[in-house]
Amino acid sequence: MIKLDDAYDENNIFAKILRGEMPNITLYEDDKTLAFMDIMPQAVGHCLVIPKEPAVTFLDLSEDGAAAVMATAKKVAAAVVQAMDAPGFMMAQLNSSAAGQTVPHYHMHILPRHDGLELEFHARKPENMAVLNETAEKIRAHL
Ligand code: AMP
Repeated sequence: MIKLDDAYDENNIFAKILRGEMPNITLYEDDKTLAFMDIMPQAVGHCLVIPKEPAVTFLDLSEDGAAAVMATAKKVAAAVVQAMDAPGFMMAQLNSSAAGQTVPHYHMHILPRHDGLELEFHARKPENMAVLNETAEKIRAHL
Protein backbone atom coordinates (compact mmCIF):
# COMPACT_ATOMS: atom_id res chain seq x y z
CA MET A 1 0.00 0.00 0.00
CA ILE A 2 1.53 3.33 -1.07
CA LYS A 3 0.21 6.30 0.89
CA LEU A 4 0.62 10.02 0.20
CA ASP A 5 2.64 10.58 3.39
CA ASP A 6 4.92 7.52 3.01
CA ALA A 7 8.65 7.94 3.57
CA TYR A 8 10.80 7.09 0.55
CA ASP A 9 11.76 3.38 0.41
CA GLU A 10 15.38 3.13 -0.77
CA ASN A 11 14.76 -0.49 -1.81
CA ASN A 12 11.98 0.12 -4.31
CA ILE A 13 12.60 -1.31 -7.77
CA PHE A 14 13.26 2.05 -9.47
CA ALA A 15 15.75 3.07 -6.74
CA LYS A 16 17.56 -0.21 -7.50
CA ILE A 17 17.52 0.59 -11.21
CA LEU A 18 18.99 4.04 -10.48
CA ARG A 19 21.77 2.45 -8.38
CA GLY A 20 22.51 -0.05 -11.17
CA GLU A 21 21.40 -3.00 -9.01
CA MET A 22 18.59 -3.96 -11.42
CA PRO A 23 18.76 -3.98 -15.23
CA ASN A 24 16.68 -1.67 -17.38
CA ILE A 25 16.31 -0.88 -21.07
CA THR A 26 17.46 2.73 -21.11
CA LEU A 27 16.19 5.18 -23.70
CA TYR A 28 17.66 8.41 -22.35
CA GLU A 29 19.58 9.58 -19.29
CA ASP A 30 20.84 12.91 -17.97
CA ASP A 31 22.00 14.14 -14.57
CA LYS A 32 18.44 14.48 -13.20
CA THR A 33 16.31 11.89 -15.03
CA LEU A 34 16.23 8.41 -16.56
CA ALA A 35 13.84 7.14 -19.25
CA PHE A 36 13.44 3.40 -19.85
CA MET A 37 11.05 0.81 -21.27
CA ASP A 38 8.14 -0.37 -19.14
CA ILE A 39 8.54 -4.16 -18.90
CA MET A 40 4.76 -4.74 -18.71
CA PRO A 41 3.72 -2.37 -21.48
CA GLN A 42 0.12 -1.32 -21.97
CA ALA A 43 0.98 -0.40 -25.58
CA VAL A 44 3.98 -1.03 -27.83
CA GLY A 45 6.40 1.80 -26.99
CA HIS A 46 5.16 2.32 -23.39
CA CYS A 47 8.00 3.85 -21.40
CA LEU A 48 8.65 5.65 -18.13
CA VAL A 49 10.51 8.80 -17.09
CA ILE A 50 11.79 8.98 -13.51
CA PRO A 51 13.64 11.65 -11.54
CA LYS A 52 16.95 10.69 -9.96
CA GLU A 53 15.93 12.41 -6.73
CA PRO A 54 14.03 10.28 -4.19
CA ALA A 55 10.30 11.08 -4.39
CA VAL A 56 7.29 8.83 -3.93
CA THR A 57 4.59 11.02 -5.49
CA PHE A 58 4.28 14.31 -7.33
CA LEU A 59 3.88 16.05 -3.96
CA ASP A 60 7.38 14.90 -2.90
CA LEU A 61 9.08 16.00 -6.10
CA SER A 62 11.09 19.25 -6.02
CA GLU A 63 10.14 21.92 -8.57
CA ASP A 64 13.52 21.39 -10.19
CA GLY A 65 12.92 17.61 -10.34
CA ALA A 66 9.42 18.12 -11.78
CA ALA A 67 10.80 20.46 -14.46
CA ALA A 68 13.52 17.94 -15.33
CA VAL A 69 10.98 15.10 -15.66
CA MET A 70 8.81 17.23 -17.96
CA ALA A 71 11.78 18.23 -20.11
CA THR A 72 12.80 14.58 -20.54
CA ALA A 73 9.19 13.48 -21.10
CA LYS A 74 8.93 16.04 -23.92
CA LYS A 75 12.05 14.65 -25.65
CA VAL A 76 11.08 11.01 -25.16
CA ALA A 77 7.40 11.47 -26.11
CA ALA A 78 8.43 13.10 -29.39
CA ALA A 79 10.71 10.13 -30.13
CA VAL A 80 8.02 7.58 -29.16
CA VAL A 81 5.46 9.27 -31.43
CA GLN A 82 7.85 9.18 -34.37
CA ALA A 83 9.13 5.66 -33.74
CA MET A 84 5.65 4.16 -33.27
CA ASP A 85 4.11 6.33 -35.98
CA ALA A 86 1.49 7.26 -33.37
CA PRO A 87 -1.29 9.75 -34.13
CA GLY A 88 -1.58 10.40 -30.39
CA PHE A 89 -0.04 9.63 -27.03
CA MET A 90 -0.93 9.63 -23.34
CA MET A 91 1.11 10.84 -20.40
CA ALA A 92 -0.05 9.64 -16.99
CA GLN A 93 1.23 9.30 -13.48
CA LEU A 94 -0.44 7.80 -10.44
CA ASN A 95 -0.03 9.05 -6.87
CA SER A 96 -0.59 6.47 -4.07
CA SER A 97 -2.20 3.03 -4.10
CA ALA A 98 -5.60 4.72 -3.98
CA ALA A 99 -4.78 6.05 -7.46
CA GLY A 100 -3.27 2.75 -8.65
CA GLN A 101 0.45 3.51 -8.09
CA THR A 102 2.42 0.27 -7.72
CA VAL A 103 6.04 1.44 -7.59
CA PRO A 104 6.83 3.98 -4.82
CA HIS A 105 9.24 6.14 -6.85
CA TYR A 106 7.66 8.94 -8.89
CA HIS A 107 7.32 8.10 -12.61
CA MET A 108 5.64 9.53 -15.67
CA HIS A 109 4.16 6.99 -18.12
CA ILE A 110 4.38 7.75 -21.86
CA LEU A 111 1.99 5.65 -23.96
CA PRO A 112 1.61 5.93 -27.73
CA ARG A 113 -2.06 5.68 -28.80
CA HIS A 114 -3.63 4.61 -32.06
CA ASP A 115 -7.30 4.97 -33.02
CA GLY A 116 -9.33 1.94 -31.97
CA LEU A 117 -6.41 0.23 -30.20
CA GLU A 118 -7.25 -0.37 -26.53
CA LEU A 119 -4.55 -0.33 -23.84
CA GLU A 120 -3.46 -3.59 -22.20
CA PHE A 121 -4.14 -3.96 -18.46
CA HIS A 122 -1.92 -1.94 -16.10
CA ALA A 123 1.29 -3.72 -14.94
CA ARG A 124 -0.12 -7.15 -15.80
CA LYS A 125 1.80 -8.95 -18.58
CA PRO A 126 5.63 -8.93 -18.90
CA GLU A 127 6.80 -8.43 -22.49
CA ASN A 128 9.53 -10.51 -24.10
CA MET A 129 12.93 -8.78 -23.64
CA ALA A 130 13.87 -9.17 -27.32
CA VAL A 131 10.65 -7.37 -28.32
CA LEU A 132 11.28 -4.59 -25.77
CA ASN A 133 14.86 -4.16 -26.99
CA GLU A 134 13.70 -3.94 -30.58
CA THR A 135 11.13 -1.26 -29.71
CA ALA A 136 13.71 0.64 -27.64
CA GLU A 137 16.10 0.63 -30.59
CA LYS A 138 13.42 2.26 -32.76
CA ILE A 139 12.73 4.95 -30.12
CA ARG A 140 16.44 5.66 -29.55
CA ALA A 141 16.84 6.29 -33.27
CA HIS A 142 14.71 9.42 -32.79
CA LEU A 143 16.45 10.75 -29.69
P1 AMP B 1 2.50 2.54 -11.50
O1 AMP B 1 1.49 1.49 -11.25
O2 AMP B 1 1.99 3.82 -12.05
O3 AMP B 1 3.31 2.71 -10.24
O4 AMP B 1 3.43 1.98 -12.64
C1 AMP B 1 4.52 1.17 -12.43
C2 AMP B 1 4.95 0.72 -13.79
O5 AMP B 1 6.24 0.18 -13.67
C3 AMP B 1 4.05 -0.35 -14.39
O6 AMP B 1 3.60 0.07 -15.67
C4 AMP B 1 4.96 -1.57 -14.48
O7 AMP B 1 4.72 -2.34 -15.62
C5 AMP B 1 6.34 -0.95 -14.49
N1 AMP B 1 7.44 -1.73 -13.96
C6 AMP B 1 7.46 -2.48 -12.83
N2 AMP B 1 8.68 -3.00 -12.65
C7 AMP B 1 9.45 -2.57 -13.67
C8 AMP B 1 10.82 -2.76 -14.05
N3 AMP B 1 11.66 -3.52 -13.32
N4 AMP B 1 11.28 -2.16 -15.18
C9 AMP B 1 10.45 -1.39 -15.93
N5 AMP B 1 9.15 -1.18 -15.63
C10 AMP B 1 8.66 -1.75 -14.53
